[in-house]
Amino acid sequence: LLKMLSQDQIFKKLVYGVDIPDPIESFEKLTGKIPKQVLDNILIDIGYQTPTQIQMQTIPILLKDRDIIGCAPTGTGKTAAFAIPIISNLKFHKKQGCRALIVSPTKELASQTFREFQALSKGINLKIIALTKKILQPKESENVDIIITTPLRLVYYIQNNQINLSSATCLVLDEADKLFEMGFLPQIDKILNACTNSKITRCLFSATMIKPVEDMALTVLRNPIKVVIGIPNI
Ligand code: ADP
Ligand code: MG
Repeated sequence: LLKMLSQDQIFKKLVYGVDIPDPIESFEKLTGKIPKQVLDNILIDIGYQTPTQIQMQTIPILLKDRDIIGCAPTGTGKTAAFAIPIISNLKFHKKQGCRALIVSPTKELASQTFREFQALSKGINLKIIALTKKILQPKESENVDIIITTPLRLVYYIQNNQINLSSATCLVLDEADKLFEMGFLPQIDKILNACTNSKITRCLFSATMIKPVEDMALTVLRNPIKVVIGIPNI
């Protein structure tokens, strides 16, 4: 796997929105705000030393359950930017059904995201599944906390009434530019409609800030904070 991340590279940063939480300059600043186990997983187990720019800005925003559109170049750690606060907000397993839903454009990206969630939540009692690998057993979705999926697979289960998303309090549309380019807007629409919980936090992450992604954000997000790292496509 190519590590494109360069911690030395400082990109231009733009943040828009109202009541923007302060960014964190180190993971240690999260002490007391996220479970100690998650902090240990980040710093000791995985060994990330400093948060990337998108992580500095996004983690405090999602810890406060704010809608967000996050745009940063490929390889700058967008997965952990949402995985760390999601795991921390959910804290432990509840038999409430799916509480966080991550939609990725491809099976490969969904699997990578699944592995990152597993590493970050090691030692935390959360049930996380990737819908790419396995067939969903009847009632299984009622006993998971986090579902990571591709659009088509999820819509298949929604249409067969095999999955209930009314309990979801967080929805992430990851790699939103790819989701759009691959023609998944109709599926995204069905997924949004299936997430009926009025208290849901919605997030959109993208490598490029293309017009359709902005449009999606405008229609989908409520009072969002927009974080753009790097040079946006105009
Ligand atoms: P993106 O979604 O922005 O393309 P990823 O989330 O896939 O990026 O992360 C790219 C790589 O950077 C992964 O190998 C990930 O483990 C690594 N990474 C993420 N956050 C950090 C960090 N804070 N420090 C060092 N490496 C990191
Ligand atoms: Mg990504």
